[in-house]
Amino acid sequence: MGSMTGFLDTARMENPFREEAERLGDFEDLHLSQSGDVRWAQASRCMNCGVPFCQSDFGCPLHNLIPEWNDLLCRGQEEEALKRLLMTAPFPEFTGHVCPALCEKACNLADSGVTNRDNELYLIETGFARGWIRPRVPSARSGKRIAVVGSGPSGLAAADLLNRLGHETVVFEKADRPGGLLMYGIPNMKLPKETVLRRIRLMEAEGVRFRLNTEARPEELEDFDAVLLCGGSRKPRSLNLERMDAAGVVFAVDYLTAASKGLLAGRDPAVSAEGKRVVVVGGGDTGNDCVGTALRQGCLSVVQLEMMPAPPENRLPGNPWPEWPRILRTDYGQQEAIFRQGSDPRIYETTVSRIQTDDRGCVSALETVRLRRKTEGGFEPVPGSEQILPCDLLLIAAGFIGCEQSTLDAFSLRADARGRLMPEDGTHHLSGRFFSAGDMRTGQSLVVRSLADGRDAAREIDAWLKKAMEESE
Ligand SMILES: Cc1cc2nc3c(=O)[nH]c(=O)nc-3n(C[C@H](O)[C@H](O)[C@H](O)COP(=O)(O)OP(=O)(O)OC[C@H]3O[C@@H](n4cnc5c(N)ncnc54)[C@H](O)[C@@H]3O)c2cc1C
Ligand code: SF4
Repeated sequence: MGSMTGFLDTARMENPFREEAERLGDFEDLHLSQSGDVRWAQASRCMNCGVPFCQSDFGCPLHNLIPEWNDLLCRGQEEEALKRLLMTAPFPEFTGHVCPALCEKACNLADSGVTNRDNELYLIETGFARGWIRPRVPSARSGKRIAVVGSGPSGLAAADLLNRLGHETVVFEKADRPGGLLMYGIPNMKLPKETVLRRIRLMEAEGVRFRLNTEARPEELEDFDAVLLCGGSRKPRSLNLERMDAAGVVFAVDYLTAASKGLLAGRDPAVSAEGKRVVVVGGGDTGNDCVGTALRQGCLSVVQLEMMPAPPENRLPGNPWPEWPRILRTDYGQQEAIFRQGSDPRIYETTVSRIQTDDRGCVSALETVRLRRKTEGGFEPVPGSEQILPCDLLLIAAGFIGCEQSTLDAFSLRADARGRLMPEDGTHHLSGRFFSAGDMRTGQSLVVRSLADGRDAAREIDAWLKKAMEESE
């Protein structure tokens, strides 16, 4: 504990957002970084608790050694602090940008928890800037070959650890760039794509090989001793409506992928919100990313529909600390919409009942209706609440219902009722040489949970290989 009274002397200070007027003009990082002095002072707020809830199951899924590296950071021992962070966190530059920071909400300082996410981002970026992050090539190889299918956070975390454990690791990725939703999904302003590519280059220098534009098929993987499926939970939930095939009706990840591809190629995206009246169906984080992206592309207006009621402003009695607070949040995209349009883009307890199209077959308006809960469960439309909402681009961000059928078919696998490849015994082992991890195993989740799950799967594969070797001796 670097300072006995740090949490009393210093107020919590997160990396500030850039002003809306400025950040809406580009796709650059939403936040400004702060100096080492600020981060040291923030680290001094950590109390090195006897029971550090930040590390518990309510907090960091990677069980990062948070009090230890905050202590080192606060004392100015940054390289040591980074080493301690990297013992459990494979890619702090990803979580430092996009993690909702479960550890901060679980922190014993409650509403003014230690700024662990910004501290970890500071440490890893300092490490890259000062040359402390260098390729770590394993000194010996096991002679075993592992195929990882999918290069999202779970696949990358597993490949990173399997390679460190000495196994020859090849990552198969069907997209043209690696990273999964880190590359094509999460927008550039939340996670700059160069940050993802920098890590991939480092992993390549450490010996991991990437085969891009390659949809993995079992017959190509026969030479591998183990296969880890990390294909994500990417099947989007659709709306049960006619005219879902109309021009201008686009699933959120397809839209966000087009936006990132356009930016990376320095050309207009294949789908753009420019000059359009945009409606986003889905009030969650993916919907918010669509709002932020549409505003940057120059949409005429943006509305976000959510069928659930607005969450409460404060924790309800059934949702106490250190649980994640299920309360109303106004995320960056919604803040930007308020700045640009003068009001919150979210309309709650409302859904689309019909898509109207023009004579070219393009979406032109939506018929919407308010919803109310039925006493026996579910929702019903409120009579007389129908409205017409002008719309040229309808973005569907209504969640995900499991892994893609093409991968299941190719590997002759069956998902459970929730679309997951989750072995019943709670492990990652499907059968034979096959394992699963990440969203494909758990359902759509968070980057940090996918990283933790990928690392758990890598350890399980390593133990399974060792056992097989012992048995064959
Ligand atoms: C728009 C959006 C924003 C998000 N924002 C956040 C956020 O801010 N913070 C956060 O913590 N979480 C966020 N999430 C959730 C997070 O991105 C996911 O939980 C995480 O990426 C899951 O990682 P994964 O490795 O399991 O799968 P994915 O990231 O989905 O990666 C799976 C990869 O497998 C590839 N693949 C699939 N099948 C095959 C095959 N047969 N052969 C080869 N390749 C294949 C896919 O192309 C893809 O690249 C967001 C999700 C979305 C959709
Ligand atoms: S709970 Fe908060 S104050 Fe306590 S050790 Fe963890 S980060 Fe530090």
